[in-house]
Amino acid sequence: MRYLILSDIHGNLEALQAVLAQAEGQYDLILNCGDLVGYGPDPNAVIETCRQRCAFVIRGNHDKASAGLSDLDWFNPVARASAVWTADALLKENLEWLRNLPPGPAEVEDFHLVHGSPADEDEYIVSIPDARDAASQAGVALSFFGHTHLQGGFEVHRENARAIPPDWVQVGNGSVWLINPGSVGQPRDGDPRAAYAIYNSDTRSVTYERASYPIETTYRKILGAGLPEMLGIRLFRGL
Ligand code: ZN
Repeated sequence: MRYLILSDIHGNLEALQAVLAQAEGQYDLILNCGDLVGYGPDPNAVIETCRQRCAFVIRGNHDKASAGLSDLDWFNPVARASAVWTADALLKENLEWLRNLPPGPAEVEDFHLVHGSPADEDEYIVSIPDARDAASQAGVALSFFGHTHLQGGFEVHRENARAIPPDWVQVGNGSVWLINPGSVGQPRDGDPRAAYAIYNSDTRSVTYERASYPIETTYRKILGAGLPEMLGIRLFRGL
């Protein structure tokens, strides 16, 4: 089975559409590691597209916040403003759907989808020590995660861990693999193109991909919505 793995779309419809167009014909099912909304100007269209097209969706911290399931105290002012804007913009039906999204881990075949880390949907896996901790709690050999908006991930073999460069990975036996497809709608690894991954469970291989999209359009929508301009500017930089 070939899976298109998406994460952190963040209300960016242009980025999502570019990924779906580029990946067309290369996958059987779509899996989504959460944060469909927050930051971006098209939460309804993104939710509606994912409702139609994704086989599995788990929630992220911004989904929880925008659905009123977590308090916003620990969000920075820009994230908080966008969560409030999103909650207000969501159609009732989409808000209800968002509120009912399950937390990770979600089990697909023999692997898991999580938003932050296997033990905590709000936790970031950024460093080698983070990866070692996460691997000890994973319970399965392969997990896909998001939340950091950094394409790549980690291989953990007993006490040793290494960062995986985002090109191609053969998932081998004996290690724990933590794979981040990157962020569709707000990449933070210096490459502004939308990020995603394709996992082939027959060959156990992951390919990391990027898709260009019309950032200018999304930027203008962010301004038009009255969202903080910085949320549009950062898309051009991929940071
Ligand atoms: Zn996110």
